Amino acid sequence: MTEKTNELKRRAFLKKGLTGLAAVGAIPGAVKAAALGSPEPGQAAAGLSQAKPIVRTLGKTGLRIPVVSMGVMNADNPAVVQAALDSGVFMLDTANGYQRGRNEQMIGQVIKGRPRDSYMIATKVPASGRDKSMQGLDSASVQKAFLDNFDISLGRLGLDHVEILYLHNNTTRESVQNPVLMEALQKAKKAGKARFIGITTHANEPAVIRATIEAKGYDVILTAYNFRQDYRDEMRKAVAEATAAGIGIVAMKTQAGAYWDKERQQPINMRAALKWVLNDPNVTTAIPGFTTFDQLKEDLTVMTDLKLTPAELKDLKLGEQVAGLYCQQCGQCVSGCPQNLPIPSLMRGYMYAYGYRNLQAAHELVGTLDVAENPCGSCASCSAVCAKGFDIADRVKDIARLRAVPGDFFA
Ligand code: SF4
Ligand code: SF4
Repeated sequence: MTEKTNELKRRAFLKKGLTGLAAVGAIPGAVKAAALGSPEPGQAAAGLSQAKPIVRTLGKTGLRIPVVSMGVMNADNPAVVQAALDSGVFMLDTANGYQRGRNEQMIGQVIKGRPRDSYMIATKVPASGRDKSMQGLDSASVQKAFLDNFDISLGRLGLDHVEILYLHNNTTRESVQNPVLMEALQKAKKAGKARFIGITTHANEPAVIRATIEAKGYDVILTAYNFRQDYRDEMRKAVAEATAAGIGIVAMKTQAGAYWDKERQQPINMRAALKWVLNDPNVTTAIPGFTTFDQLKEDLTVMTDLKLTPAELKDLKLGEQVAGLYCQQCGQCVSGCPQNLPIPSLMRGYMYAYGYRNLQAAHELVGTLDVAENPCGSCASCSAVCAKGFDIADRVKDIARLRAVPGDFFA
């Protein structure tokens, strides 16, 4: 089956839904670079300004990093990653779970042969004890599973160490202050496999950031932070507190879903969104998830110029009238749902599917949730209200269809 055919089928899910897709069967093989329509790598570098990149220091780590790094999660074209490194991007951010390990493998191929001091790698490992399949494990087993998974990441990357190892996906004080996991991270650091350790968070961020400061022992926080968050003033304060405590801040989800609409006809002004977060001087670097050469070029212009123009500021204000795709994970909708559905997680899956066009990530996320294929079936009308104005029932019904898609559909 050709890559073109795969891409057409992937689009069929997004456009027609599961019924239409089931008729053509499962899709083997990854969706690859064919969809990107990219020029040769050199072209991206050739379009760059010669201005000096803005470089900041990552807290007490002392690492000096340009303000624009690369979130590799959605990228499946190694040439884009190569071009990013060739164009001045220094840090690549990946995770143990991205593309079921293929993301780390791809990075491993890209960096093979490059001088070790010409790039930095950050990866993330989740707490195995939170995984449903591993609940009930004793502390030693949880710690071992975490460290074994980290070793798998190092193997895929072809490295003996990374610059940053994050404990992935924290939403509570308890998770970042879990002594078993903190000890596992420290062991990785002491073994020289991770130069620095941190946590990631994209829900309840101000509280999680403060709990991380209190925990003492972390070097870096990777947090969702963008112009769409209703609590952005609180974010600014929490980020400043972390900086004062010597913890470096890396920002993600900076482009708030990338599009205003499901059909991707209205892109968010990505330069403006990226500049917005980097105008907080306490953010060392951001990890926009560019996947094409054009997006790379656009993000690279921000590396040398953070000044928001009046037109860019106006574009960001569009969000005041449009619901968009970004769920800020505030949880305000949850109490309105009699089924107690994990709406924030479903909405994050919706953003992965429609904003990022990363159906595999959406599928993996939805697969971890305790929801049926049609979870809203018994509701005559939806009583869950979204702070951002999403039509929650419509989006839940749409994304929950992924429950019926077999795991090897995206293999
Ligand atoms: S329609 Fe769905 S999301 Fe809305 S209240 Fe009912 S079960 Fe919850
Ligand atoms: S769906 Fe809306 S209310 Fe619910 S968590 Fe997301 S942004 Fe908040």
